[in-house]
Amino acid sequence: MSQPKEQKPSNLLDKIVSLCKRRGFIFPGSEIYGGLRGTWDYGPLGSEMKFNLKQSWWKYMVQDRENVFGVNAAIMMNPKVWEASGHTQAFTDPLIECKICHERFRADKHEDIKEHEEMHAKKKENPPTGGGWTEPKQFNILVEAKLGVVEGEKTMVYLRGEITQGVHVNFKNVVDSMHPKIPFGLAQIGKAFRNEITPRNFVFRSREFEQMELQTYVKPDEVSAMEVFSEMKNIRMQWYLNLGIDKNKLRFREHAFDERAHYARAAWDIEYETPWGWDETEGIHHRGDWDLSRHSQFSGQDLSYFDSESKERFVPWVIETSGGVDRALLFFLLDAYQEEKDRIVLKIHPKLAPYKAAVFPLLKNKPELAAKARQVFKDLKMTSLNIAWDDRGNIGKRYYSQDEIGTPFCITVDFQTLEDGTVTLRDRDTMEQKRIDTKDIAKLLEEKLK
Ligand code: ATP
Repeated sequence: MSQPKEQKPSNLLDKIVSLCKRRGFIFPGSEIYGGLRGTWDYGPLGSEMKFNLKQSWWKYMVQDRENVFGVNAAIMMNPKVWEASGHTQAFTDPLIECKICHERFRADKHEDIKEHEEMHAKKKENPPTGGGWTEPKQFNILVEAKLGVVEGEKTMVYLRGEITQGVHVNFKNVVDSMHPKIPFGLAQIGKAFRNEITPRNFVFRSREFEQMELQTYVKPDEVSAMEVFSEMKNIRMQWYLNLGIDKNKLRFREHAFDERAHYARAAWDIEYETPWGWDETEGIHHRGDWDLSRHSQFSGQDLSYFDSESKERFVPWVIETSGGVDRALLFFLLDAYQEEKDRIVLKIHPKLAPYKAAVFPLLKNKPELAAKARQVFKDLKMTSLNIAWDDRGNIGKRYYSQDEIGTPFCITVDFQTLEDGTVTLRDRDTMEQKRIDTKDIAKLLEEKLK
């Protein structure tokens, strides 16, 4: 399913933003009130696609593997969690302010800064003498909220800045309830919040977003930890490839020493080649015993693990894979978008497609055709597949509309269907049409979803 590059327009991101709005994938957050910077709302098709993406991750990372369990922790946590994890102290970005317009930027995002300077230069707006930017200031990006009913007695909590800690604080609960054998994994998918200084590039960097993470607890021994680390790198890369992303647009990048968290023993990113250059989709991190030791220290609880095989007690190390749901979704859309001579087509993997097929009656105003098509539609909806119905306009327009939202198959009920029970099945990618028995449609679609 790799995409030929030449069919990508130069303003690809704008095209995706516009398609997402027009076709009900993603809208600006609270749009009727003028929006809220750094927030996005998923519409009917976007929420289907996001659900499919998360389901695919969960099946691949949790259900298909042994010794991996799920957790679904609260977003609001005891503030001590963030002291222990180091976020209240160290979850900071260096911030600089433009002296002309007072807009703030991350000091390490050189491209943004350059773009901003060029914008002012084009408008012939000159910075004051002594430079255009303030000195960098550290800015904590945890989002605060107040909890409680009595004004003045409310407790300040943070909306979680990463989903990781919700897993680590439940390490003991899971060990005591599930008795997993080390190495074992704890997975979570959920929302995280960050006061990003410059939310940008659509859902790539927003202030509210979803993460999908697997924390693997391993014995504190460098050889076996690094074995799990490389296994995780491969597993994560394979997930994107299995879902049809162009392999030439993905790469690993090792973090430079000064980029790493001080406790990270190894850190690699998986990057995608976006229209604005190579950028991170997820990180694979060797976190050592940082999380469990710190939570043990701050909570006063024993978070060690007793290995009944070796009869040893130790604090496990953690190998983490941490990816963004919204970023992955955006990268799959960018990758799948094609402009062909007479159509725009999203060649997304059938697993991710909002609808697996669309059913049409050839002619809307022939009651016998409409009734038969409705029956085919209803029968398919009884399966686990999400199916669309369309009887507007002519067949050509319906194909155009389904191609643009990535529906892999279109099924047309015509006069021959009334006679022999076959329908026309049209393939999104090849545009080939063939006749197939209505009885065989569900099986064929399920086959494509494997
Ligand atoms: P960046 O350097 O881009 O800010 P990060 O290295 O801080 O990202 P992590 O803290 O490792 O990111 O978070 C893990 C994953 O969560 C990222 O790889 C990304 O996919 C996702 N993510 C992080 N911040 C955002 C955001 N503001 N918007 C959308 N997704 C995000």
